[in-house]
Amino acid sequence: MPSIFSKIISREIPAHIVYEDENTIAFLDINPVNPGHTLVVPKEEAPNILESSPEVVRHLLDVVQKIAPVIVRATESDGCTITANIGEASGQSVFHTHIHIIPRKYGDGHIGWSQLNPSSNELSQTAQKIKEMI
Ligand code: 5GP
Repeated sequence: MPSIFSKIISREIPAHIVYEDENTIAFLDINPVNPGHTLVVPKEEAPNILESSPEVVRHLLDVVQKIAPVIVRATESDGCTITANIGEASGQSVFHTHIHIIPRKYGDGHIGWSQLNPSSNELSQTAQKIKEMI
């Protein structure tokens, strides 16, 4: 069954499309965090960015790099957050690869995550585990 984003690509359901090429589409998020919040989506379906092919991801990032500064300018923003949720635990709700471009303004209230304060030893152990597995 096609994802909701594939239905947007095939024009089965409407969206406010801001960019499209052969491989990629970008449209406004239906529930934006800030005005101009855009989803950049490969036309080839995969559950998330880690499972899309490297070629697809490269092109996706090219498009993000091209349109994010334009979105920031068009919305008269001060910057943007570029993010991708991977898996339900991260808050992913649509399992078709996508990157969020969220325009940001000073004082918009979308403060970051609460952060831990680990010891140097804890950081070393975590880094070691990751290095061993890469
Ligand atoms: P996720 O939670 O998977 O990282 O992001 C999915 C995003 O897709 C959400 O921010 C949600 O608002 C958006 N979304 C879900 N359904 C639709 C839809 O039908 N149209 C549009 N334009 N955005 C959608």
